[in-house]
Amino acid sequence: MTEIITGLKLSEGIGFGSIFISKRADIDISEREIDAAHINEEISAYKESIQQAHIQLRILRENVGEHLDEDSAAIFDAHIMMLDDPGFNEQIINNINSLNNAEKAIQLAGQVYITKFESLDSEYMKARALDVKDICMRLIANVQGTELTDLTRVDEPVVVVADELTPSASAQLDSKYVKGIITATGGVTSHSAIIARSLNIPAISGVPDILSKVNHGDDIIVDGFTGDIVLSPTEIEMAAYSEKSKAQDEREEKLKDFIGKETATLDGINISLYANIKGPEDINDVTSNDAEGVGLYRTEFLYMNRMNLPSEDEQFEAYKTVLSSTDDKPVIIRTLDIGGDKELSYLNLPKESNPFLGERSIRFLLKNEEIFKTQLRALVRASEHGNLKVMFPMVTTIDEFNRAKALLVEEKEKYEAEIGKELDNIAVGIMVETPSAAIISDQLAKHVDFFSIGSNDLIQYTMAADRLNDQVSDLYQPYHPSVLGLIKKVIDSGRNNNKWVGICGEMACDYKSIALLIGFGIDELSVNPKNILAIREHIAKIKKTDMEHLSEQVLLADSAEDVLYLIEEHLNLT
Ligand code: PEP
Ligand code: MG
Repeated sequence: MTEIITGLKLSEGIGFGSIFISKRADIDISEREIDAAHINEEISAYKESIQQAHIQLRILRENVGEHLDEDSAAIFDAHIMMLDDPGFNEQIINNINSLNNAEKAIQLAGQVYITKFESLDSEYMKARALDVKDICMRLIANVQGTELTDLTRVDEPVVVVADELTPSASAQLDSKYVKGIITATGGVTSHSAIIARSLNIPAISGVPDILSKVNHGDDIIVDGFTGDIVLSPTEIEMAAYSEKSKAQDEREEKLKDFIGKETATLDGINISLYANIKGPEDINDVTSNDAEGVGLYRTEFLYMNRMNLPSEDEQFEAYKTVLSSTDDKPVIIRTLDIGGDKELSYLNLPKESNPFLGERSIRFLLKNEEIFKTQLRALVRASEHGNLKVMFPMVTTIDEFNRAKALLVEEKEKYEAEIGKELDNIAVGIMVETPSAAIISDQLAKHVDFFSIGSNDLIQYTMAADRLNDQVSDLYQPYHPSVLGLIKKVIDSGRNNNKWVGICGEMACDYKSIALLIGFGIDELSVNPKNILAIREHIAKIKKTDMEHLSEQVLLADSAEDVLYLIEEHLNLT
């Protein structure tokens, strides 16, 4: 009998296939105790396992690089880095000395990191625990001389079902055969989700009992648009999902007509349509979807998933890669936005009771000048390779902006003195994410080169509703007249001072708010690169003059519901 289960959507698309159950190679740790005289042999076995892991990971990286984009394959660089981490190695050697067993020693050292990652609030950091498990399993298998399971042997259309997929298992997935992935656990920012998206394999997680509900070889359908999993589908269901999948393919094909076109409203007003990225791994999406620039490069991802701060050179390489692969299009790089839900465990910062109202973003950077200067210097060096603009996150006062900009200027002048030539000017702007910045935007506009509205945060701070707290999610209202009033104020302040204004929060991706933002006079939208063409199509149907009328009305509305009704009426959706 058909059964439909709904899970968490990780990667869009519809996939059909027979179930391939992938049980993790759970490795039994041997209880053997080596007598003290042989400890050195145990240490050598451990060291040997590290060497082997290096080779395995390099081969894996090269192999997966052939069917994954190069930057997803770079996940293995993070694993290699962990193998080289002196703290991790020292811990394992100490454990071998006290436990007399290399396998147990690796397991124990890994557990410390796993527990630490799992205790963090950020879903992204929680997902890193799986990377540590993956590395430890590899090392233990090497000590034992056993092999980890291999997904490369799949050679027919399957939907892989697993408790969780380690990053190295995910990287073996071949989209030619793997038509879907279902996991019991794993969040949107887990590596398996990132890889599934980069391979365009539909994926769903958050189905804790999935393994007990399926049989190896049975038919299954995965709908990554809705999160639905159809067990034992009937012929009729198969046909309906095939139709849906075909319609989606056709729509994607049609959207390609918008490649190379300007983004303009029906009445000819140009809007810059840029992409949000996490790093060089997203550049393929930026170019294949014809983004007109990068409106938000969230650099914090470069600082995460590792045990220490990235060096200046490492940052320089990442920024340079992005700048030099975007054909001189604008690339707006945001300086480190850490704090709130994004923690860097290796900095061991004191716990805050209200992290979103604490030492976040620019506040952290101004108090930790060395970390800030390293990033600024890497940015200055990278500016020689493209059209760089720098943006500071979460500014609340003019003083913060001026201090941050002074540090950037200082680093630029130092570097210019070193290389003996002057670099081009670097435009410097801010994210408007706090009501304070929005309210004084007219004064701020005299100092900055541009504004980019961070609506994700601006909504939470305006409505005093934590963006991650389900209990108050009903108050997290993008269409609330108070939020819209602040957005309009920022856009007006930009216009009155000849500074352009963009938006890079999720509102920039929402069709209804896009209409409104155009009515308000927004100059730029920065969105997930995969949405670029559909948004270009949507904007081409909007008349700015109609939306100007709408934007006057919404500011006088009583509630978010009333605003929504007005927008739907104007877009003829009612
Ligand atoms: C925002 O706050 O809207 C934004 C784009 O920044 P982040 O989501 O990274 O906080
Ligand atoms: Mg933000």
